[in-house]
Amino acid sequence: MKKIKTTPAGFAEAFIEIDGMPFRFVDKYNKYNWRKYLLPIYNNPYEDMILKCGRQVEKSTTLAVKGASHSALKPHFGTLYVSPTSKQTRKYSNQKFRKIINTSPLFSKYFTNKYTTDQVYEVTFSNFAEYHMGYAYHSADSVRGVSVDMITFDEFQDLLSDHIPVIKEAASASDYEINIYSGTPKTYNNHIEKRWQDSTQNIWVIPCKSCGIGNRMDKDPKRMISKQGLVCKKCGSSINTKNGYWHELQPDARLKGYHISQLQIGRNQRKKKWDKIYYEKYLKYPEAKLHNEVFGLSFDSADKPMTKTKLKKVATGPWLYELKRDTTKKNPLYMGVDWGENKGSFNVAVIGGFVDGTFRVFHIKKFDHKESQDPDLVLDYLHDMFNIFKCRVMACDHGAGHKENIRLKKMISPERVWEIYYSSNQKKLWDWKPKGEMYVVNRSKIMSDTIDKIEREELQLPQWEELEKRRVSGRALYEDFTSLNKEYSETLRAYKYDHDGPDDVFQALVYCRLAAHIDQGVSIQ
Ligand SMILES: [Zn+2]
Repeated sequence: MKKIKTTPAGFAEAFIEIDGMPFRFVDKYNKYNWRKYLLPIYNNPYEDMILKCGRQVEKSTTLAVKGASHSALKPHFGTLYVSPTSKQTRKYSNQKFRKIINTSPLFSKYFTNKYTTDQVYEVTFSNFAEYHMGYAYHSADSVRGVSVDMITFDEFQDLLSDHIPVIKEAASASDYEINIYSGTPKTYNNHIEKRWQDSTQNIWVIPCKSCGIGNRMDKDPKRMISKQGLVCKKCGSSINTKNGYWHELQPDARLKGYHISQLQIGRNQRKKKWDKIYYEKYLKYPEAKLHNEVFGLSFDSADKPMTKTKLKKVATGPWLYELKRDTTKKNPLYMGVDWGENKGSFNVAVIGGFVDGTFRVFHIKKFDHKESQDPDLVLDYLHDMFNIFKCRVMACDHGAGHKENIRLKKMISPERVWEIYYSSNQKKLWDWKPKGEMYVVNRSKIMSDTIDKIEREELQLPQWEELEKRRVSGRALYEDFTSLNKEYSETLRAYKYDHDGPDDVFQALVYCRLAAHIDQGVSIQ
Protein backbone atom coordinates (compact mmCIF):
# COMPACT_ATOMS: atom_id res chain seq x y z
CA MET A 1 0.00 0.00 0.00
CA LYS A 2 1.29 3.41 -1.00
CA LYS A 3 0.60 6.73 0.67
CA ILE A 4 0.57 9.73 -1.63
CA LYS A 5 0.35 13.36 -0.68
CA THR A 6 -0.65 15.73 -3.48
CA THR A 7 -3.66 17.62 -4.78
CA PRO A 8 -6.13 15.74 -6.97
CA ALA A 9 -4.99 17.97 -9.88
CA GLY A 10 -1.33 17.20 -9.14
CA PHE A 11 -2.19 13.54 -8.95
CA ALA A 12 -3.98 13.63 -12.30
CA GLU A 13 -1.01 15.30 -14.01
CA ALA A 14 1.50 12.92 -12.50
CA PHE A 15 -0.25 9.63 -13.00
CA ILE A 16 -2.97 9.82 -15.60
CA GLU A 17 -3.04 9.60 -19.37
CA ILE A 18 -6.00 10.35 -21.58
CA ASP A 19 -5.97 8.53 -24.93
CA GLY A 20 -2.21 8.17 -24.84
CA MET A 21 -1.59 11.83 -24.02
CA PRO A 22 -0.40 13.00 -20.62
CA PHE A 23 -3.20 14.68 -18.69
CA ARG A 24 -2.27 18.39 -18.44
CA PHE A 25 -4.01 21.55 -17.31
CA VAL A 26 -1.35 23.58 -19.14
CA ASP A 27 0.94 21.75 -21.57
CA LYS A 28 4.06 23.59 -22.68
CA TYR A 29 4.60 21.14 -25.55
CA ASN A 30 1.08 21.18 -26.95
CA LYS A 31 -0.91 24.40 -26.74
CA TYR A 32 -4.21 22.62 -27.45
CA ASN A 33 -3.75 20.18 -24.57
CA TRP A 34 -5.08 22.90 -22.29
CA ARG A 35 -7.78 22.63 -19.67
CA LYS A 36 -6.86 25.11 -16.99
CA TYR A 37 -10.53 25.89 -16.30
CA LEU A 38 -10.81 22.40 -14.80
CA LEU A 39 -8.33 23.15 -11.99
CA PRO A 40 -10.82 24.28 -9.32
CA ILE A 41 -13.14 21.43 -10.29
CA TYR A 42 -10.36 18.96 -9.51
CA ASN A 43 -9.08 20.73 -6.44
CA ASN A 44 -12.37 21.40 -4.66
CA PRO A 45 -12.36 17.87 -3.41
CA TYR A 46 -14.88 17.85 -0.58
CA GLU A 47 -17.77 19.93 -1.73
CA ASP A 48 -21.07 19.26 -3.46
CA MET A 49 -20.84 20.38 -7.03
CA ILE A 50 -22.85 20.67 -10.21
CA LEU A 51 -21.23 20.63 -13.64
CA LYS A 52 -23.53 22.03 -16.29
CA CYS A 53 -21.76 21.18 -19.52
CA GLY A 54 -21.97 20.93 -23.27
CA ARG A 55 -21.32 17.49 -24.78
CA GLN A 56 -17.76 16.23 -25.27
CA VAL A 57 -16.14 18.51 -22.74
CA GLU A 58 -14.47 15.65 -20.81
CA LYS A 59 -17.33 15.39 -18.37
CA SER A 60 -17.05 11.63 -17.81
CA THR A 61 -13.26 11.87 -17.84
CA THR A 62 -13.46 14.46 -15.07
CA LEU A 63 -15.64 12.15 -12.99
CA ALA A 64 -13.31 9.21 -13.67
CA VAL A 65 -10.11 11.09 -12.85
CA LYS A 66 -11.65 12.61 -9.75
CA GLY A 67 -12.81 9.17 -8.66
CA ALA A 68 -9.41 7.62 -9.35
CA SER A 69 -7.50 10.34 -7.52
CA HIS A 70 -9.82 10.26 -4.49
CA SER A 71 -9.47 6.47 -4.34
CA ALA A 72 -5.69 6.72 -4.40
CA LEU A 73 -5.40 9.66 -2.00
CA LYS A 74 -7.89 8.53 0.63
CA PRO A 75 -7.68 4.99 2.01
CA HIS A 76 -11.13 3.41 2.56
CA PHE A 77 -12.78 6.12 0.46
CA GLY A 78 -15.92 4.89 -1.30
CA THR A 79 -17.28 6.30 -4.55
CA LEU A 80 -20.45 5.54 -6.49
CA TYR A 81 -20.85 6.43 -10.15
CA VAL A 82 -24.44 6.51 -11.46
CA SER A 83 -25.71 7.00 -15.00
CA PRO A 84 -29.24 6.39 -16.29
CA THR A 85 -28.61 3.10 -18.11
CA SER A 86 -26.61 -0.08 -17.63
CA LYS A 87 -25.26 0.32 -21.17
CA GLN A 88 -23.88 3.72 -20.39
CA THR A 89 -22.41 2.63 -17.08
CA ARG A 90 -20.67 -0.33 -18.73
CA LYS A 91 -19.26 1.97 -21.39
CA TYR A 92 -17.99 4.36 -18.72
CA SER A 93 -16.52 1.48 -16.73
CA ASN A 94 -14.69 -0.05 -19.69
CA GLN A 95 -13.71 3.01 -21.67
CA LYS A 96 -13.11 5.56 -18.94
CA PHE A 97 -12.66 4.49 -15.36
CA ARG A 98 -11.04 1.09 -15.67
CA LYS A 99 -9.08 2.21 -18.70
CA ILE A 100 -7.54 5.01 -16.64
CA ILE A 101 -6.77 2.63 -13.78
CA ASN A 102 -5.45 -0.15 -15.97
CA THR A 103 -3.22 2.05 -18.11
CA SER A 104 -1.69 3.78 -15.11
CA PRO A 105 1.53 2.08 -13.96
CA LEU A 106 0.99 3.61 -10.51
CA PHE A 107 -2.33 1.85 -9.98
CA SER A 108 -1.10 -1.52 -11.24
CA LYS A 109 2.03 -1.29 -9.12
CA TYR A 110 0.75 0.12 -5.84
CA PHE A 111 -3.00 -0.18 -5.68
CA THR A 112 -3.83 -3.64 -6.93
CA ASN A 113 -3.02 -7.05 -5.52
CA LYS A 114 -4.57 -10.50 -5.45
CA TYR A 115 -7.28 -9.34 -3.06
CA THR A 116 -8.50 -6.41 -5.11
CA THR A 117 -11.39 -6.53 -7.57
CA ASP A 118 -11.55 -5.26 -11.13
CA GLN A 119 -15.08 -5.80 -12.40
CA VAL A 120 -17.50 -3.89 -14.57
CA TYR A 121 -19.60 -2.60 -11.68
CA GLU A 122 -17.01 -2.68 -8.91
CA VAL A 123 -13.32 -1.88 -8.53
CA THR A 124 -11.45 -2.12 -5.24
CA PHE A 125 -7.94 -1.02 -4.31
CA SER A 126 -5.26 -2.26 -1.93
CA ASN A 127 -5.79 0.81 0.30
CA PHE A 128 -9.39 -0.43 0.77
CA ALA A 129 -10.86 2.33 -1.37
CA GLU A 130 -13.88 1.15 -3.35
CA TYR A 131 -15.39 2.35 -6.60
CA HIS A 132 -18.92 1.22 -7.44
CA MET A 133 -20.76 1.80 -10.68
CA GLY A 134 -24.54 1.59 -10.99
CA TYR A 135 -27.43 2.86 -13.06
CA ALA A 136 -30.86 4.16 -12.26
CA TYR A 137 -33.44 5.02 -14.81
CA HIS A 138 -36.70 3.23 -14.09
CA SER A 139 -35.52 2.13 -10.71
CA ALA A 140 -32.64 2.84 -8.39
CA ASP A 141 -32.39 -0.84 -7.41
CA SER A 142 -28.83 -1.28 -8.73
CA VAL A 143 -27.50 1.20 -6.14
CA ARG A 144 -29.59 0.21 -3.15
CA GLY A 145 -27.52 -0.97 -0.21
CA VAL A 146 -24.28 0.62 -1.45
CA SER A 147 -22.56 2.80 1.14
CA VAL A 148 -20.03 5.38 -0.07
CA ASP A 149 -18.49 8.80 0.62
CA MET A 150 -18.96 10.38 -2.77
CA ILE A 151 -21.60 9.99 -5.48
CA THR A 152 -20.93 11.14 -9.01
CA PHE A 153 -24.01 11.48 -11.21
CA ASP A 154 -23.39 11.31 -14.96
CA GLU A 155 -26.00 12.41 -17.51
CA PHE A 156 -27.85 13.80 -14.51
CA GLN A 157 -30.46 15.43 -16.77
CA ASP A 158 -31.72 12.01 -17.86
CA LEU A 159 -32.23 10.58 -14.38
CA LEU A 160 -35.77 10.74 -13.04
CA SER A 161 -36.12 13.30 -10.28
CA ASP A 162 -37.93 10.77 -8.04
CA HIS A 163 -34.87 8.49 -7.88
CA ILE A 164 -32.35 11.14 -6.88
CA PRO A 165 -33.14 11.07 -3.11
CA VAL A 166 -32.96 7.27 -3.20
CA ILE A 167 -29.53 7.35 -4.85
CA LYS A 168 -28.30 10.02 -2.43
CA GLU A 169 -29.05 7.66 0.46
CA ALA A 170 -25.87 5.81 -0.52
CA ALA A 171 -23.71 8.60 0.94
CA SER A 172 -25.95 9.57 3.85
CA ALA A 173 -23.87 7.73 6.46
CA SER A 174 -20.58 9.27 5.30
CA ASP A 175 -18.79 12.17 7.01
CA TYR A 176 -17.89 13.50 3.57
CA GLU A 177 -21.25 13.00 1.86
CA ILE A 178 -20.14 14.53 -1.45
CA ASN A 179 -22.49 14.71 -4.42
CA ILE A 180 -21.27 15.67 -7.86
CA TYR A 181 -23.98 16.18 -10.46
CA SER A 182 -22.87 16.41 -14.04
CA GLY A 183 -24.80 16.58 -17.24
CA THR A 184 -25.94 18.47 -20.30
CA PRO A 185 -28.83 20.87 -19.79
CA LYS A 186 -32.10 20.48 -21.66
CA THR A 187 -35.18 22.59 -21.00
CA TYR A 188 -35.55 25.03 -18.12
CA ASN A 189 -37.84 22.49 -16.43
CA ASN A 190 -35.10 19.90 -16.13
CA HIS A 191 -33.67 19.40 -12.62
CA ILE A 192 -30.14 20.12 -13.84
CA GLU A 193 -31.18 23.74 -14.45
CA LYS A 194 -32.93 23.93 -11.10
CA ARG A 195 -29.82 22.76 -9.30
CA TRP A 196 -27.70 25.16 -11.32
CA GLN A 197 -29.93 28.03 -10.16
CA ASP A 198 -29.19 27.01 -6.55
CA SER A 199 -25.44 26.89 -7.11
CA THR A 200 -22.58 29.39 -6.99
CA GLN A 201 -22.82 29.58 -10.82
CA ASN A 202 -19.24 29.89 -11.94
CA ILE A 203 -19.03 31.03 -15.51
CA TRP A 204 -15.95 31.35 -17.71
CA VAL A 205 -15.27 34.94 -18.78
CA ILE A 206 -12.83 35.86 -21.54
CA PRO A 207 -11.66 39.48 -21.47
CA CYS A 208 -11.26 41.34 -24.75
CA LYS A 209 -7.89 43.02 -25.12
CA SER A 210 -9.27 45.54 -27.64
CA CYS A 211 -12.38 46.93 -25.98
CA GLY A 212 -11.91 45.61 -22.47
CA ILE A 213 -15.27 43.91 -21.93
CA GLY A 214 -15.56 40.47 -20.33
CA ASN A 215 -17.18 37.88 -22.59
CA ARG A 216 -19.36 35.54 -20.54
CA MET A 217 -19.76 32.04 -21.92
CA ASP A 218 -23.38 31.83 -20.70
CA LYS A 219 -24.74 34.93 -22.48
CA ASP A 220 -25.30 35.32 -26.25
CA PRO A 221 -22.71 32.68 -27.11
CA LYS A 222 -23.60 32.80 -30.80
CA ARG A 223 -22.13 36.28 -31.02
CA MET A 224 -18.72 34.91 -29.98
CA ILE A 225 -18.54 32.58 -32.97
CA SER A 226 -16.84 33.65 -36.21
CA LYS A 227 -15.51 31.56 -39.07
CA GLN A 228 -11.97 32.17 -37.81
CA GLY A 229 -12.54 31.44 -34.15
CA LEU A 230 -13.73 32.99 -30.89
CA VAL A 231 -14.44 36.72 -31.05
CA CYS A 232 -15.52 39.49 -28.70
CA LYS A 233 -19.28 40.00 -28.56
CA LYS A 234 -18.93 43.77 -28.57
CA CYS A 235 -16.09 44.67 -30.95
CA GLY A 236 -15.53 41.45 -32.90
CA SER A 237 -11.80 41.24 -32.08
CA SER A 238 -10.35 37.82 -31.66
CA ILE A 239 -10.28 36.56 -28.04
CA ASN A 240 -8.37 33.70 -26.41
CA THR A 241 -9.92 31.31 -23.92
CA LYS A 242 -6.57 30.96 -22.15
CA ASN A 243 -6.97 34.53 -20.89
CA GLY A 244 -10.27 33.58 -19.28
CA TYR A 245 -11.15 33.32 -15.61
CA TRP A 246 -13.98 31.94 -13.47
CA HIS A 247 -16.52 34.43 -12.25
CA GLU A 248 -18.86 33.37 -9.48
CA LEU A 249 -22.38 34.81 -9.80
CA GLN A 250 -23.73 33.60 -6.45
CA PRO A 251 -20.78 33.25 -4.05
CA ASP A 252 -23.05 32.63 -1.05
CA ALA A 253 -24.67 29.49 -2.43
CA ARG A 254 -23.67 26.20 -0.78
CA LEU A 255 -23.53 24.11 -3.93
CA LYS A 256 -20.54 24.78 -6.19
CA GLY A 257 -21.58 25.18 -9.80
CA TYR A 258 -19.48 25.31 -12.97
CA HIS A 259 -20.71 25.89 -16.47
CA ILE A 260 -18.56 24.47 -19.29
CA SER A 261 -19.18 25.38 -22.93
CA GLN A 262 -17.52 23.67 -25.90
CA LEU A 263 -16.30 27.14 -26.87
CA GLN A 264 -13.91 27.39 -23.92
CA ILE A 265 -12.15 24.02 -24.42
CA GLY A 266 -8.47 24.14 -25.41
CA ARG A 267 -8.59 21.49 -28.09
CA ASN A 268 -11.61 23.12 -29.76
CA GLN A 269 -9.46 26.15 -30.67
CA ARG A 270 -7.50 24.04 -33.17
CA LYS A 271 -8.59 24.98 -36.74
CA LYS A 272 -9.92 21.53 -37.60
CA LYS A 273 -12.05 21.32 -34.45
CA TRP A 274 -13.26 24.90 -34.76
CA ASP A 275 -14.36 24.28 -38.36
CA LYS A 276 -16.45 21.43 -37.07
CA ILE A 277 -18.10 23.67 -34.49
CA TYR A 278 -18.67 26.40 -37.08
CA TYR A 279 -19.83 24.42 -40.11
CA GLU A 280 -21.43 21.35 -38.61
CA LYS A 281 -22.90 22.70 -35.40
CA TYR A 282 -23.30 26.48 -35.41
CA LEU A 283 -24.67 26.58 -38.99
CA LYS A 284 -26.63 23.33 -38.91
CA TYR A 285 -27.88 22.37 -35.45
CA PRO A 286 -31.41 23.30 -34.41
CA GLU A 287 -31.39 26.04 -31.74
CA ALA A 288 -32.21 23.74 -28.82
CA LYS A 289 -29.47 21.26 -29.68
CA LEU A 290 -26.92 24.03 -30.29
CA HIS A 291 -27.65 25.58 -26.91
CA ASN A 292 -27.74 22.31 -24.98
CA GLU A 293 -24.89 20.38 -26.54
CA VAL A 294 -22.47 23.06 -27.73
CA PHE A 295 -23.06 25.96 -25.33
CA GLY A 296 -24.08 23.84 -22.33
CA LEU A 297 -27.13 26.03 -21.78
CA SER A 298 -30.79 25.23 -21.15
CA PHE A 299 -33.14 26.03 -23.96
CA ASP A 300 -36.87 26.35 -23.73
CA SER A 301 -38.39 23.88 -26.07
CA ALA A 302 -40.25 22.49 -23.10
CA ASP A 303 -42.90 20.11 -24.16
CA LYS A 304 -45.85 20.12 -21.82
CA PRO A 305 -47.87 17.21 -23.17
CA MET A 306 -50.95 18.00 -21.06
CA THR A 307 -52.45 21.47 -21.22
CA LYS A 308 -55.60 22.86 -19.60
CA THR A 309 -57.19 23.19 -23.03
CA LYS A 310 -56.63 19.53 -23.84
CA LEU A 311 -57.89 18.41 -20.43
CA LYS A 312 -61.04 20.54 -20.60
CA LYS A 313 -62.01 18.80 -23.82
CA VAL A 314 -62.15 15.41 -22.08
CA ALA A 315 -63.38 16.60 -18.67
CA THR A 316 -67.02 16.11 -19.55
CA GLY A 317 -68.03 13.04 -17.56
CA PRO A 318 -69.96 12.70 -14.30
CA TRP A 319 -68.33 12.84 -10.86
CA LEU A 320 -69.77 10.01 -8.80
CA TYR A 321 -69.65 9.50 -5.03
CA GLU A 322 -70.91 5.95 -5.29
CA LEU A 323 -71.70 3.35 -7.89
CA LYS A 324 -74.52 4.43 -10.23
CA ARG A 325 -75.60 1.53 -12.42
CA ASP A 326 -77.41 3.77 -14.92
CA THR A 327 -74.11 5.57 -15.54
CA THR A 328 -71.67 2.67 -15.47
CA LYS A 329 -74.13 0.30 -17.13
CA LYS A 330 -73.06 -2.74 -15.14
CA ASN A 331 -69.49 -2.46 -16.42
CA PRO A 332 -66.84 -3.41 -13.87
CA LEU A 333 -64.89 -0.57 -12.25
CA TYR A 334 -61.25 -0.46 -11.22
CA MET A 335 -59.18 1.52 -8.80
CA GLY A 336 -55.63 2.81 -9.29
CA VAL A 337 -53.56 3.89 -6.29
CA ASP A 338 -50.40 5.99 -6.33
CA TRP A 339 -48.52 6.24 -3.06
CA GLY A 340 -47.14 9.74 -2.52
CA GLU A 341 -43.86 10.08 -0.70
CA ASN A 342 -43.08 13.69 0.04
CA LYS A 343 -42.70 17.23 -1.28
CA GLY A 344 -46.32 17.95 -2.10
CA SER A 345 -46.88 14.47 -3.35
CA PHE A 346 -49.83 12.66 -1.72
CA ASN A 347 -51.63 9.34 -1.85
CA VAL A 348 -54.17 9.32 -4.64
CA ALA A 349 -56.89 6.90 -5.75
CA VAL A 350 -58.65 7.02 -9.12
CA ILE A 351 -61.80 5.03 -9.98
CA GLY A 352 -62.79 4.27 -13.54
CA GLY A 353 -63.65 1.68 -16.14
CA PHE A 354 -64.76 1.05 -19.71
CA VAL A 355 -68.26 2.21 -20.56
CA ASP A 356 -69.35 2.01 -24.20
CA GLY A 357 -65.80 1.19 -25.22
CA THR A 358 -64.26 4.37 -23.71
CA PHE A 359 -62.24 4.44 -20.51
CA ARG A 360 -63.94 6.84 -18.09
CA VAL A 361 -62.87 8.18 -14.72
CA PHE A 362 -65.69 8.59 -12.18
CA HIS A 363 -63.99 9.60 -8.97
CA ILE A 364 -60.64 10.85 -7.69
CA LYS A 365 -59.54 10.97 -4.07
CA LYS A 366 -56.41 12.81 -3.01
CA PHE A 367 -55.50 12.35 0.65
CA ASP A 368 -54.25 15.44 2.43
CA HIS A 369 -51.14 15.68 4.55
CA LYS A 370 -52.94 14.93 7.82
CA GLU A 371 -54.78 11.90 6.45
CA SER A 372 -51.59 10.56 4.88
CA GLN A 373 -49.90 10.58 8.29
CA ASP A 374 -52.34 7.88 9.40
CA PRO A 375 -51.85 4.73 7.27
CA ASP A 376 -54.78 2.93 8.96
CA LEU A 377 -57.15 5.70 7.97
CA VAL A 378 -55.89 5.69 4.37
CA LEU A 379 -56.18 1.92 4.04
CA ASP A 380 -59.68 1.83 5.55
CA TYR A 381 -60.79 4.65 3.28
CA LEU A 382 -59.44 2.85 0.20
CA HIS A 383 -61.10 -0.37 1.29
CA ASP A 384 -64.46 1.43 1.73
CA MET A 385 -64.18 3.14 -1.64
CA PHE A 386 -63.32 -0.17 -3.25
CA ASN A 387 -66.54 -1.64 -1.82
CA ILE A 388 -68.77 1.38 -2.47
CA PHE A 389 -67.84 1.35 -6.15
CA LYS A 390 -67.81 -2.47 -6.25
CA CYS A 391 -64.40 -2.39 -7.92
CA ARG A 392 -63.00 -5.53 -9.45
CA VAL A 393 -59.30 -4.78 -9.01
CA MET A 394 -57.16 -2.32 -7.10
CA ALA A 395 -53.85 -1.64 -8.94
CA CYS A 396 -51.22 -0.09 -6.70
CA ASP A 397 -47.82 1.45 -7.21
CA HIS A 398 -45.17 -1.01 -6.03
CA GLY A 399 -42.41 1.50 -5.33
CA ALA A 400 -43.35 3.56 -2.30
CA GLY A 401 -46.16 1.49 -0.84
CA HIS A 402 -45.11 -2.12 -0.73
CA LYS A 403 -46.00 -2.47 2.96
CA GLU A 404 -49.41 -0.90 2.41
CA ASN A 405 -49.99 -3.16 -0.59
CA ILE A 406 -49.36 -6.25 1.54
CA ARG A 407 -51.89 -5.03 4.08
CA LEU A 408 -54.46 -4.27 1.37
CA LYS A 409 -54.02 -7.77 -0.04
CA LYS A 410 -54.91 -9.14 3.37
CA MET A 411 -57.88 -6.78 3.77
CA ILE A 412 -59.32 -7.40 0.29
CA SER A 413 -57.76 -10.42 -1.41
CA PRO A 414 -54.37 -11.11 -2.98
CA GLU A 415 -56.03 -11.79 -6.35
CA ARG A 416 -57.73 -8.41 -6.44
CA VAL A 417 -54.92 -6.15 -5.23
CA TRP A 418 -52.26 -5.90 -7.89
CA GLU A 419 -48.84 -4.36 -7.65
CA ILE A 420 -47.50 -2.43 -10.62
CA TYR A 421 -43.76 -2.05 -11.08
CA TYR A 422 -42.09 0.23 -13.63
CA SER A 423 -39.00 -1.25 -15.26
CA SER A 424 -36.49 -0.18 -17.88
CA ASN A 425 -35.84 -3.68 -19.20
CA GLN A 426 -39.49 -4.24 -19.98
CA LYS A 427 -39.65 -4.66 -23.78
CA LYS A 428 -43.32 -5.50 -24.02
CA LEU A 429 -45.76 -2.96 -22.64
CA TRP A 430 -46.43 -5.14 -19.61
CA ASP A 431 -45.79 -8.61 -18.29
CA TRP A 432 -46.78 -10.66 -15.26
CA LYS A 433 -43.80 -11.56 -13.08
CA PRO A 434 -44.86 -14.53 -10.95
CA LYS A 435 -41.68 -14.29 -8.88
CA GLY A 436 -42.44 -10.82 -7.57
CA GLU A 437 -46.20 -11.36 -7.87
CA MET A 438 -46.55 -8.15 -9.78
CA TYR A 439 -47.11 -6.61 -13.18
CA VAL A 440 -43.97 -5.14 -14.68
CA VAL A 441 -44.74 -2.25 -16.99
CA ASN A 442 -42.76 -0.11 -19.42
CA ARG A 443 -43.16 3.34 -17.90
CA SER A 444 -42.65 5.56 -20.97
CA LYS A 445 -44.90 3.44 -23.15
CA ILE A 446 -47.85 3.34 -20.78
CA MET A 447 -47.55 7.05 -19.93
CA SER A 448 -47.28 8.03 -23.55
CA ASP A 449 -50.25 5.84 -24.45
CA THR A 450 -52.41 7.39 -21.71
CA ILE A 451 -51.46 10.91 -22.83
CA ASP A 452 -52.21 9.93 -26.41
CA LYS A 453 -55.71 8.74 -25.44
CA ILE A 454 -56.43 12.09 -23.78
CA GLU A 455 -55.13 13.96 -26.82
CA ARG A 456 -57.35 11.94 -29.13
CA GLU A 457 -60.26 12.50 -26.76
CA GLU A 458 -60.65 8.75 -26.34
CA LEU A 459 -60.53 8.88 -22.56
CA GLN A 460 -63.00 10.71 -20.34
CA LEU A 461 -62.30 12.58 -17.11
CA PRO A 462 -64.91 13.86 -14.65
CA GLN A 463 -66.42 17.31 -15.21
CA TRP A 464 -63.99 20.23 -15.27
CA GLU A 465 -65.59 21.94 -12.22
CA GLU A 466 -64.30 19.07 -10.07
CA LEU A 467 -60.84 19.07 -11.63
CA GLU A 468 -60.30 22.79 -11.16
CA LYS A 469 -61.49 22.94 -7.50
CA ARG A 470 -58.68 23.93 -5.13
CA ARG A 471 -58.11 20.98 -2.83
CA VAL A 472 -55.12 19.62 -0.90
CA SER A 473 -52.40 22.31 -0.50
CA GLY A 474 -54.51 24.66 -2.61
CA ARG A 475 -53.88 22.55 -5.65
CA ALA A 476 -56.42 21.50 -8.25
CA LEU A 477 -56.50 17.92 -9.52
CA TYR A 478 -55.83 18.94 -13.14
CA GLU A 479 -52.43 20.30 -12.05
CA ASP A 480 -51.26 16.70 -11.57
CA PHE A 481 -51.57 16.42 -15.36
CA THR A 482 -50.16 19.77 -16.43
CA SER A 483 -47.06 19.14 -14.27
CA LEU A 484 -45.90 16.49 -16.75
CA ASN A 485 -43.10 17.29 -19.11
CA LYS A 486 -41.56 15.41 -21.97
CA GLU A 487 -38.05 15.60 -23.40
CA TYR A 488 -36.19 13.61 -25.96
CA SER A 489 -33.25 11.83 -24.35
CA GLU A 490 -30.22 11.07 -26.50
CA THR A 491 -28.97 8.66 -23.87
CA LEU A 492 -32.15 6.64 -23.76
CA ARG A 493 -33.00 7.18 -27.44
CA ALA A 494 -36.58 7.68 -26.40
CA TYR A 495 -38.90 10.26 -24.91
CA LYS A 496 -38.53 10.68 -21.21
CA TYR A 497 -41.40 11.81 -19.01
CA ASP A 498 -40.84 13.67 -15.79
CA HIS A 499 -42.86 16.13 -13.74
CA ASP A 500 -42.10 19.54 -12.29
CA GLY A 501 -44.83 19.26 -9.65
CA PRO A 502 -46.77 16.32 -8.23
CA ASP A 503 -48.27 13.97 -10.86
CA ASP A 504 -49.94 11.46 -8.53
CA VAL A 505 -53.44 11.76 -10.04
CA PHE A 506 -52.06 11.02 -13.49
CA GLN A 507 -50.10 8.02 -12.20
CA ALA A 508 -53.13 6.63 -10.33
CA LEU A 509 -55.11 7.00 -13.56
CA VAL A 510 -52.43 5.04 -15.44
CA TYR A 511 -52.65 2.18 -12.90
CA CYS A 512 -56.45 2.21 -12.97
CA ARG A 513 -56.54 2.07 -16.76
CA LEU A 514 -53.92 -0.66 -16.86
CA ALA A 515 -55.98 -2.83 -14.48
CA ALA A 516 -59.07 -2.42 -16.66
CA HIS A 517 -57.15 -3.32 -19.82
CA ILE A 518 -55.44 -6.36 -18.33
CA ASP A 519 -58.48 -7.68 -16.49
CA GLN A 520 -60.77 -7.33 -19.49
CA GLY A 521 -58.18 -8.50 -21.99
CA VAL A 522 -58.45 -5.25 -23.98
CA SER A 523 -55.12 -4.68 -25.66
CA ILE A 524 -53.48 -1.27 -25.34
CA GLN A 525 -52.54 0.64 -28.55
ZN1 LIG B 1 -13.97 43.65 -27.59
